[in-house]
Amino acid sequence: MPELRRGPTSNRWVIVAPERAKRPTDFERKPDPSAIDEKPANCPFCAGNEAMTPPEIYRIHDGAGWRVRVVPNKFPALQVYQELGREAVLGVFDRMRGVGAHEIVIETPEHVRDLADMSEEQVKLVIDTYIARLQDLMKNPWFRYILLFKNHGKEAGASLSHPHSQIIATPIVPQEVRNSLMTARTYYEKKERCLYCDVMLEEIRSGERVVEEVDGHVVWAPYDSRFPFELVVYPKQHSHDFTSLSTEQRYGLARTLIRTLGRLRALLGDVPYNFVLKTTPNPVPRPGRPGYWSTLPYDYHWRIAILPRLTQVAGFEWGTGFYINPMPPESAAKHLRDVKLETPS
Ligand SMILES: [Zn+2]
Ligand SMILES: [Zn+2]
Repeated sequence: MPELRRGPTSNRWVIVAPERAKRPTDFERKPDPSAIDEKPANCPFCAGNEAMTPPEIYRIHDGAGWRVRVVPNKFPALQVYQELGREAVLGVFDRMRGVGAHEIVIETPEHVRDLADMSEEQVKLVIDTYIARLQDLMKNPWFRYILLFKNHGKEAGASLSHPHSQIIATPIVPQEVRNSLMTARTYYEKKERCLYCDVMLEEIRSGERVVEEVDGHVVWAPYDSRFPFELVVYPKQHSHDFTSLSTEQRYGLARTLIRTLGRLRALLGDVPYNFVLKTTPNPVPRPGRPGYWSTLPYDYHWRIAILPRLTQVAGFEWGTGFYINPMPPESAAKHLRDVKLETPS
């Protein structure tokens, strides 16, 4: 029987309707042939083709050359300007200048398929780069939120197959983030505990949606999963700020991501997915707004969401904001737990 569920952190309703599809094989994906045929010679993100990208913003290199590069997006969604230029000249229609930043993190000089194919050391360098760029962008008080995400595969919006992620700094805190901040703050006011820590402890206790608890992180399929095999990765240690990770935690996260994406690949093939980091908005107060979100260190918890794109978002979802998920998260977690990884830790 289909079931309506509401998520404790998202406040969102989903319909879990397992009758529609049952086995992981119903979702299996073959590798995208166009991605495999793509010649590294024409790939702007491969080593040797650096001249094909706009001038570099940041790089990590060693004796052999660069290991991770950051470049501006050629077609940015937002651009760096001096002023925000907020105005309400259009009556009810607010507008402001498209101030922001849009950067591409090229995760490796090699034309591999995905993060799951990289070494632990390389993924740790990618995490170092994420943190360095977030810290740098947060120095700008006009950048209120910095979104870090990754689109893997054409159906998830990636136009190039070479592993890369994107960073977009926006001059407002997005509504989705604002909602989760408000939910977390309201819970904390009542219970004086972090909502996310409480949800995590409950998931560990029940275990039915947990895929793995390893290296200081817990991976599970959320109760209100919108998509088949949707996953979240939480640090076990409470922290609102992804940029505060220690070296040891960065290695732990690198291993956790490689294992988690490896499980998805082993079970479903080359799954298109979006990967989104949820972390604190810019803690530097915006001029004129001192004390804004000052409770975040207590009530917010950073995490990563992995959203496989195996189902279509259609009229029902657009019309209601509800999602229909044909794969119960309890079953998804079980299938992923049962995967035998090639290189067990
Ligand atoms: Zn490439
Ligand atoms: Zn917490």
